[in-house]
Amino acid sequence: MSRPLSLGAALAALVIAIGCGKSGAPSTPAPAAPDVAPVAGKRPPITDFHAHLSLDGAERVRQIMADNGVERFINLSGGSGRHNGQAWLMAKMLADQFPGRIINFASPNWRGFGHPEWIAREAAALQAAVTQFGFAGVKIAKGLGLGHTDDRDQLVAVDDPRLDPLWAKAAELGIPVCIHVADPRAFWWPLTPQNERWDELGVHPYWAYGPIPDSVMAGFEPQAQELVRQRIPVPSWPAMLQAAERMYRRNPKTTFVAVHFGNAAEDLDYVDGLLQRNANLWIDTAARVGEFGRHPAERVRAFFDKWQDRIVFGTDIGIGSDYLMLGSNGQTEPQLPDVKPFYDAHWAYFETQARQIAHPSPIQGRWAVDAIGLAPAVLNKIYRENAAKLLDRSFLLARAAAAPPTVANAAVPPPADPTPAWAAALVAPPTATAK
Ligand SMILES: [Zn+2]
Repeated sequence: MSRPLSLGAALAALVIAIGCGKSGAPSTPAPAAPDVAPVAGKRPPITDFHAHLSLDGAERVRQIMADNGVERFINLSGGSGRHNGQAWLMAKMLADQFPGRIINFASPNWRGFGHPEWIAREAAALQAAVTQFGFAGVKIAKGLGLGHTDDRDQLVAVDDPRLDPLWAKAAELGIPVCIHVADPRAFWWPLTPQNERWDELGVHPYWAYGPIPDSVMAGFEPQAQELVRQRIPVPSWPAMLQAAERMYRRNPKTTFVAVHFGNAAEDLDYVDGLLQRNANLWIDTAARVGEFGRHPAERVRAFFDKWQDRIVFGTDIGIGSDYLMLGSNGQTEPQLPDVKPFYDAHWAYFETQARQIAHPSPIQGRWAVDAIGLAPAVLNKIYRENAAKLLDRSFLLARAAAAPPTVANAAVPPPADPTPAWAAALVAPPTATAK
């Protein structure tokens, strides 16, 4: 039994560090750190389906796996085939040190997107990643829809049909596509200390998409201000999620894992509908326990019970030799002793009935959550069995063969977007026209 002291200490350090120099930050006291889960000993070996690993961090990876009962990491930072597959070679060298226990996912090289040869190049590269480098999936980062541009300098939409052959290639290979779309809803609200993500956005203001009042802007470092000025207009939060769903529906043979709880942990009903409408869609829990944990525990438990076959456990941990990320990053980087409390906070949330405990990534919001105490059979699926299915190529190929027909240009509902009154009172953010 580890004492929760270190989480509390880390939390306090974070609060102090982040609050420093940022006037007006909320002063809500930190919630109590959770007790260690009572089911310790019965927990199955864990697959963490959402990790960012680098070759130089191999020793730390080994220790973190041993300390936390993680049997397998899905490394979503396998990189692209740029520079003759240099990143893939390094990812393979890491995986080779952990046979069957580190599984790499590849990303496209967005350079040259829109050029007629781009798609053939990337489809071939994906095939090589799988057959020559042992990769087992695709990772699409949030740059799709928010940053990547085509050869005419236009923002590439999440549902850009020019990407369909890439999704088809993944289906043909029998591998899943983990996709990050948009960002937390509050990133679109004005950036002021009232924003519920102030702790995070106040440190990285250029992550925000909403307007930033001059008075707030003046408090940021010149370098951060420059990055803010370089922001480009992006579609609205609901428009981005709608684009993603049009893409899922147009590619029913491709199995997608919409990371970060379907990219919409704010709206449980929406994610429920999304899973209902799209049999090819799965979700992970990465870096969103704090967000879905804000819904009443009974509702979240019912959600997990209902979708127990299509949810995978993930944390968004990042591990390098001199780098650690635990769901997100604040002003102070977490240290090795912070990792166990981070995993323990997940176990406490999923396995106990504890009330008003700290969630794993306090920088993502200073509120407490009520744990959902899932049944052991459900935990088994989420912690490892579902992950094994997503890595089973014959399972995904069979699913693709039985997939319903493509729905082109589907009309899809948006998630709810109840902008808080304080935010609505400020100038609406500039948004690009949604496609
Ligand atoms: Zn991630």
